[in-house]
Amino acid sequence: MHRKELEFHFRSLPGRVIFGNGTLMELANEMDMLGARRAFVVTTPGRSAATRQLEGRFPGRIADIYAGAVMHTPVETTADAERALAASGADILVSIGGGSAIGLGKALALRTDLPQIAIPTTYAGSEATPVLGQSQDGVKTTMQSPKVLPETIIYDVALSSALPARIGVTSAINAIAHAVEALYARDRNPVTSLMAEEAIRRIARAMPVLATGGADADARSDALYGAWLCGICLASVGMALHHKLCHTLGGSFGLPHADVHTVLLPHAVAYNSAAEPEAMARIARALGSDDAAGGLFDLAARHGGPTSLREIGLDAAGIDRAVEIALTNPYWNPEPLTRDGLLALLRDAHAGTRPACRPGR
Ligand code: NAD
Repeated sequence: MHRKELEFHFRSLPGRVIFGNGTLMELANEMDMLGARRAFVVTTPGRSAATRQLEGRFPGRIADIYAGAVMHTPVETTADAERALAASGADILVSIGGGSAIGLGKALALRTDLPQIAIPTTYAGSEATPVLGQSQDGVKTTMQSPKVLPETIIYDVALSSALPARIGVTSAINAIAHAVEALYARDRNPVTSLMAEEAIRRIARAMPVLATGGADADARSDALYGAWLCGICLASVGMALHHKLCHTLGGSFGLPHADVHTVLLPHAVAYNSAAEPEAMARIARALGSDDAAGGLFDLAARHGGPTSLREIGLDAAGIDRAVEIALTNPYWNPEPLTRDGLLALLRDAHAGTRPACRPGR
């Protein structure tokens, strides 16, 4: 092991995790453990009908269901939900769904300090982090607070079993992106690196099932467990170029979050490859590929994920502005950021060219 990896800081976050198949049935018990009686449940509009079933399963324990969560947690939506929460008399927040639902739960926890139970049904990983992204007038900002970290996460494999193929694949690569950047994070440590490599391996192994929208319990379990590990990576160490570019393109150009991650990840990896040969070797090994960047591109391409910014709606005319925004707030990245380098990266990602790693320095 590289000597540098044996000097590290590691912070573990509090939280209780319930993982399994059918674990949703433990919701009332988990509410009891947090001393709560009635839940304010938040979800996205598409999950409204499925979430209504909670009222039948947990009679008297659901105060209200708010099915208005949307991507990037707009403050107007949070204000609307906060009014409904106050009227409901609930004493706990339960968010069920993808990162959008969990984001709204976090935003409400920040404002009310109520306890939270997160029940993730995609692989985005937000439930494991104390980070909240919010948008106002089209501008997205992020903040960190222990108040937004859910007290309990219930991972129920059954809830992700019907995840449509496109959401499953792109959301899984969104998760892998957290692990990939953890492997070359400035503050990396042997524990998160271990989790990151294992997470990539498990998710890559599950990908053929995710790509058919299949319900195979072992594969769904691998994917959800991997997503949790990726969420811990995201919460524990700093992210770099890839997350910054996704933030820029998602926030400023309104592109779908998980799709942007899927397209950009192989290109960000190629950009950083010469500076981080050990991370590249670990990523490639976990993917069962001989090249980390090419292997990530193939993972998306083979499983029906998007491979170009063009196909997910970025106009080529936006590339120059995206580079400007990405360079506005300098941030750490293993490979120094240059205007020409980022332009080339985004042009390749726009065209959908398969990238390859450069030899390590
Ligand atoms: P999402 O929550 O918007 O979900 C995508 C779609 O999938 C929605 O239409 C949703 O209704 C649907 N869906 C969710 N679960 C489903 C299921 N089991 N079956 C069928 N459909 C289902 O998208 P996402 O990619 O999960 O999350 C993206 C959001 O999360 C972004 O706003 C992003 O910024 C945020 N995020 C935050 C963090 C953090 O740490 N703060 C981390 C990752 C993502």
